[in-house]
Amino acid sequence: MSSQRDTPAGHRAGWRLQQSYREGLPAIFYTQTAPTPVNRPGLALFNVELAGDLGLDPDHFEEPAGAAELTGNTLPQGAEPLAQAYAGHQFGHFTMLGDGRALVLGEQMAPDGSRWDVQYKGSGPTPFSRRGDGRAALGPMLREYLVSESLHALGIPTTRSLAVATTGESVYRETPLPGAVLTRVAASHIRVGTFQYAAAQRPQQVKALADYTLERHYPDIAPDPDRYCNLLERFLERQIRLVAQWLGVGFIHGVMNTDNVALSGETIDYGPCAFMDTYDPATVFSSIDHHGRYAYGNQARIALWNGARFAETLLPLLSGAEKKAVQLAEEILLNANKQFEAQWLTIFHAKLGGLQATQADKNLIRSLLTWMQTHQADFINTFAHLTVLARTRANGQAPPPSNAPWNDETFAAWCRRWQAHCDALPGTPASKAALMQTHNPTVIPRNHQVESALAAAVTRLDFAPLQQLLTVCKQPYNYDLPPADTYRTPAPPDWTRTFQTFCGT
Ligand code: AMP
Ligand code: MG
Repeated sequence: MSSQRDTPAGHRAGWRLQQSYREGLPAIFYTQTAPTPVNRPGLALFNVELAGDLGLDPDHFEEPAGAAELTGNTLPQGAEPLAQAYAGHQFGHFTMLGDGRALVLGEQMAPDGSRWDVQYKGSGPTPFSRRGDGRAALGPMLREYLVSESLHALGIPTTRSLAVATTGESVYRETPLPGAVLTRVAASHIRVGTFQYAAAQRPQQVKALADYTLERHYPDIAPDPDRYCNLLERFLERQIRLVAQWLGVGFIHGVMNTDNVALSGETIDYGPCAFMDTYDPATVFSSIDHHGRYAYGNQARIALWNGARFAETLLPLLSGAEKKAVQLAEEILLNANKQFEAQWLTIFHAKLGGLQATQADKNLIRSLLTWMQTHQADFINTFAHLTVLARTRANGQAPPPSNAPWNDETFAAWCRRWQAHCDALPGTPASKAALMQTHNPTVIPRNHQVESALAAAVTRLDFAPLQQLLTVCKQPYNYDLPPADTYRTPAPPDWTRTFQTFCGT
């Protein structure tokens, strides 16, 4: 990126904010807007580890100065807040959107030279707020903090959370709720919807956005005439890998609208997301997803549908001849579809110790998933159980007792087939068990535990359960963590049947 004004000392805090988005793109892409000050800023959560990675001094963020800066009452050194313009297909319908309750402050230059958007979410109205109040409630912001940090710990690309600050004000949803501002850190906030906005409003500006995106997120793509084809290809590669990783940990994003698809390849927008308990590809928790558009098992199809919307915005850049452009886009999308299957198999085979993609092995994973679905087996715990089996086997120990549902004869027969396959593969039992351990989390933020930790924080201002859950979720692959047992318990099926998640809270 071009070099911009560098705030010399960044003051004690370590802020080194640059403004490449504002300086590098035409003004149609944003509106400069100030945050609306809040009544009584307070600090609920602060991410010391992330602050360190960004070159920020955690001491600077202690109350009261930190809380003031993390609600927008004061601004970080070098901040020039702006609301980004974008559009998006929401549940298939195209709409003009934009940051209605968020402001990007600038890009923090981390000590390692990387560039990170810093964004307030819930900082007051913007010209894009439509009928919204520009605010956010504490519960959903704590939820985004917890789940995004969990995904990060699981090794899945995601926006992150630097802090949640309380506002001392109420936001009115169905009832008054405590208000909060989340400080989100992202590789950028460029979305498929940003391209759709440009294509709809000023088609001649799509090129500026594509060039900026290439420079910021795909710097290794050579500046050749086919760079926009490469951009589409590489973007799809990242989406496919991302969705395959979500599927590997039972994650349901919940609102894969094109405005919630980041060009960086990060998971973004943690409104109605949730983790699946018992394996069922039709699992949906979002209260508004009546037709299961964003169900667990639909996510790859939707990622490709979103990819097609992105491709449409790029058509004039792919080739001067429209027919040729469409043909190029179709080829790239078709190839991405094939790649998804390969990527999914790679991840699920790693979950089983590194199986190879032969037809027999494909059937092995599919028959396990079918067994899980018929026996309503917990997705995470089944793979964790297999990991423990592989670990004990590798150590020459007796296998642990198999409780229900794994004390079932069909499952035992499947295990014998699986073990025979594994034994025939190159590598030691220990290396296969280690591979499984890095792909099969033993803890995830389970929906019932998330809800109960959030209730304690929001209704009793008791943050201890949330902190404990966060600590455990930050080590999801640690099989030796003793207190994790409580976090491995699935919710009662009745609880899960009625559990719902919500957008835009
Ligand atoms: P989301 O469902 O979070 O992806 O948001 C969709 C759109 O609604 C985005 O343009 C948001 O900025 C906007 N939005 C969500 N909540 C609010 C709010 N409370 N006030 C204003 N705009 C909002
Ligand atoms: Mg969104």
